[in-house]
Amino acid sequence: MQIKYGFIAECLDSPQPQVRVLAFWSGDKFIPNFQYYLDGTPCGAVYQTGLEIYPHSVQQLFPEDRDLLTLEAESYLGIAIVDSHGKNLGHIAGLDTKPLTNNYEQQKSILKIFAARAGAEIERQLAEKALKQQNIYLQETLEKLILLQRRLKNKKKGSKNRHKLNQKISRLHQRISDIRKDWHFKLAHHLCVQGQSIFLEDIDFRSWGRGMLSKHSLDAGFGQFVTILKWVAWKRDVFVAEVDKNFTSQICPNCGFHTGKKTLDLREHNCPECGYKTHRDVAAAQVVRNRGVKENALGHSVLENACGDGLTGALPSQESVKQEILNVSLRIAHYTA
Ligand SMILES: [Zn+2]
Repeated sequence: MQIKYGFIAECLDSPQPQVRVLAFWSGDKFIPNFQYYLDGTPCGAVYQTGLEIYPHSVQQLFPEDRDLLTLEAESYLGIAIVDSHGKNLGHIAGLDTKPLTNNYEQQKSILKIFAARAGAEIERQLAEKALKQQNIYLQETLEKLILLQRRLKNKKKGSKNRHKLNQKISRLHQRISDIRKDWHFKLAHHLCVQGQSIFLEDIDFRSWGRGMLSKHSLDAGFGQFVTILKWVAWKRDVFVAEVDKNFTSQICPNCGFHTGKKTLDLREHNCPECGYKTHRDVAAAQVVRNRGVKENALGHSVLENACGDGLTGALPSQESVKQEILNVSLRIAHYTA
C-alpha cells in the first residue's frame, strides 16, 4: 500500500469514546503506543459508518484533530474492526501526506482483509481472557469451599451453627458446579470457533475417576466437558470424532516411530528416528489429529460423529483440546497442592 502512516487501534471502555493504538507505523519505524478520544476525528466517523475514505483535505474536514496537523495528513482511509456479532472492537487506518490517487479500491480491499483477520484475532484473545478470568473465579470459590469444610470440623454435631454451615457449603457446591458448567460451555464454543474438526482420545473418564488422578479428573469434570463439547459442536456444525487413545504419547507424529513410554516429568518429545522435537503434549495431540484425519479420510468407522455429516479436515483446534485438558489438570493440581 502506498500510504505513509498506518495503525491499528482497539476500543476502550470509557464514558467518552476512546481508543488505544496497538501499533503505529510511521513510514520507517513503529512509534510508541498512545490513546486518544474519537470526537472530531476521522476515526470517530469510521465507528459510525464502518468505512471512511477522505482522498484529500482531511485536515480541513476535521480541524479539531491536532494529530492530523502534526502528521501533515492530507488523505485518510479507515475501516472498523467488528466481531462476529457486529460489535466494534477497534479500527485500522492509513494516512498520507499526499492526496490518494483515484484508484484506491485496492487499498480498500487490503484494509478489509486486514480488518477481518484482526477482528477474528482480537475476538479470540478476548474469549481467552474471559476464560482465564472465569478460571480464577472458580479457583477462588474452590478455596472458599475448602475453608468452610475445614471450619465444619470444629462445629458440634447437631448444633445450629453446624446446620447453617452445612447449608452454606451445599450452596457453594451448587455455585461451583454452575461456574464449571458455564466454563465448559465457553471453552467448547471457543474451540469450535477455531476449527472445523475436533478429535478426542476415546478415554473412559470413569476409570480415571478411580485412578491416581481421581480427584483432579473428577474436579475438572472431563466427562461433562466432552458431552458439552459434542453438543456445542453439533449445534455449530463442527465435526467431532473420538480416536483410539492407545500410545498417543509414545508414537512420533512425524514418522510413526514408537519411542517407548515417557515418564511424567519428561515434557519433551524427541524422536531418535527422525529427530522431530516438540512438547510432549503437542506431539500427542498431533498423533490424535493424524489418527482422526486418517480414519476419516479412509472412511473407517470413527467412534463418534456428533454432527452426522462426513466432514473431513484438520485444524489446530485438536491440539488446543489436549492443551486445555492439560491446563485444567494443571490448574486443579495447583489448587490442591
Ligand atoms: Zn520420528
